[in-house]
Amino acid sequence: MEILSTVAELRRWSRASRRAGRLVGLVPTMGALHLGHASLIRAAAASCGSVAASIFVNPTQFGPNEDFARYPRTFEGDCKLAEAEGATVVFAPSAKELYPPGATTFVEVEGLSSRLDGASRPGHLRGVATVVAKLMIASEADRAFFGQKDAAQVAVLRRMVADLRLATEIVVCPIVREPDGLALSSRNVYLSAEERIQALTLSRAVRQVEALAASGERRSGALLETARQIFAAVPAIRVDYVELVDWATLEPVETAAPGALFAVAAWVGATRLIDDTILG
Ligand code: AMP
Repeated sequence: MEILSTVAELRRWSRASRRAGRLVGLVPTMGALHLGHASLIRAAAASCGSVAASIFVNPTQFGPNEDFARYPRTFEGDCKLAEAEGATVVFAPSAKELYPPGATTFVEVEGLSSRLDGASRPGHLRGVATVVAKLMIASEADRAFFGQKDAAQVAVLRRMVADLRLATEIVVCPIVREPDGLALSSRNVYLSAEERIQALTLSRAVRQVEALAASGERRSGALLETARQIFAAVPAIRVDYVELVDWATLEPVETAAPGALFAVAAWVGATRLIDDTILG
């Protein structure tokens, strides 16, 4: 497996792959790879003959008081994992490579970018859309793989690809969880032992809402109330949002039609975690 650091190298690699008759898959990550990322790389390798996993802690998707500086960086281990799961190359650019000095171009998906995570993290989804657009354009990927775990991100990126008529198809992969239900996240390493237990409240809320919806309850109010009660029982957790929305528009819905997105974000100590489910 090769490690590429410039856009020119990535583009050359992609074009050579295409000439050799292989589909090009892209898996954008911020590194600190875990089994959730591994599942995306594996899915990419199963459907594309050439796979680039990108590792880039994107400064524009962090707010001024967020964890950019202390975000976990585990580059060597990441490369081993990426190779083991079938990545052909790792793309690990510098910040200057993706944001050349003086860069002022951003991708703003209006409306969607200010809902869910975008509401409490101003600029976050704009940063995500911008970097993913750069990666899609640089890699000329046929398919790019994302986790359902970042469901608001997926909605924004789908809209962006449609609006900009990008040639990359978005593939969404299921949430990978710890055996006890906690969704894997690079930020889980921040949790103390006590917080690790409290963090299970998110997946508990997700499971309960799934079960209630499966039993026939479709009223948004009732589903959200169930989730709120679960959080209310754990005062150490500060809820950021608990929402039931249309996955395409991220607008709240009154009734959970199949495909509705139930999403939660909460602070466990100083760590912000998210979880979600798509109701059947
Ligand atoms: P990140 O490195 O956190 O930016 O995540 C990179 C990609 O991995 C995103 O598409 C995430 O949605 C996805 N991802 C993160 N955690 C998980 C998980 N537990 N299961 C599946 N995909 C995940």
